[in-house]
Amino acid sequence: MNIIMLGAQGTGKGTVAGLISEQTGMPQISTGDIFRENISKKTELGIEADKYISKGYLVPDEITIPIVKDRLTWEDAQKGVILDGFPRTIEQAEALDKMLSEKGEKIDLVINLTTPKEEIIDRMLTRRVCTNQECKAIYNIKLHPPKKEGICDKCGSQLKQRKDDSDPDAIERRLEEYEEKTSPLVEYYRQKGVLKTETVSTSINRMGQDVAKEIIEEIKSK
Ligand code: AMP
Repeated sequence: MNIIMLGAQGTGKGTVAGLISEQTGMPQISTGDIFRENISKKTELGIEADKYISKGYLVPDEITIPIVKDRLTWEDAQKGVILDGFPRTIEQAEALDKMLSEKGEKIDLVINLTTPKEEIIDRMLTRRVCTNQECKAIYNIKLHPPKKEGICDKCGSQLKQRKDDSDPDAIERRLEEYEEKTSPLVEYYRQKGVLKTETVSTSINRMGQDVAKEIIEEIKSK
C-alpha cells in the first residue's frame, strides 16, 4: 500500500505519517527530513536545498524527484511507503506515478489534511522538533508540549525550532507556494478516486492523532 500525506505546512502531515509508520511498519519518507539531514551534514545537496528552504521556496523538481526515485529502490520501500511532503507539484506527481507503475504499483490513498490559515501560522510558530535525526519527534509547545521544556519525551535529546518556522516571511511564502504549486494536486488525486480529505483543527477538537487512529484502524482491517 502506498500512501501520500498532502496538505499545507503545519497541518500535521508529519505527525499523522509518523503514527501510521509506527503502527504499520511502513517507512515514512519525508523529503523535508531528507533535506534537513543533508543541510545539517552540509552535503552538496544540503547546501543547494537550503538556498530554497530557508526562504520558503520549494526545492526544484530536478533536485527533488531523483531523491525520491532513489529512496523508493531501498529494501524497506518494497511493501509500500508513506510519502510525507512529496509530491508537491503536478510534475512530481506525474513522475511518482511513473516510478510506481514501473514497479507494478500505484498510489492507494492520499490523505489531504486541511486546517484554517490562522491556526496553521500559529502552529508553525509553536512547533518544535527533536534534534536527534533517528527520532525526529514533533511537538507543539501549546497543543502537545514535551513533559520537560526543550527536551524530547521519547529520546531525551534537545528540541529546537525549525529555521523556516521562525521566519514570518518564509512561513508566508511557503503558504503561497502551497496554494500555487501544491493545491492543484487535490484535484489530481480526486480524479484518481484516492483522495480522503480530513480537517484538523482545535475548533472542532480534531487533531492529527485522531485522524491517524482512524486510518490505522482502516488499514489494519483490510
Ligand atoms: P517539510 O518538512 O515537508 O515542511 O519541508 C520543508 C521544506 O523542504 C519545504 O518548505 C520545501 O522548501 C522543501 N521540500 C520538502 N519537500 C519538497 C518537495 N516535495 N518539493 C520541493 N520542495 C520540498
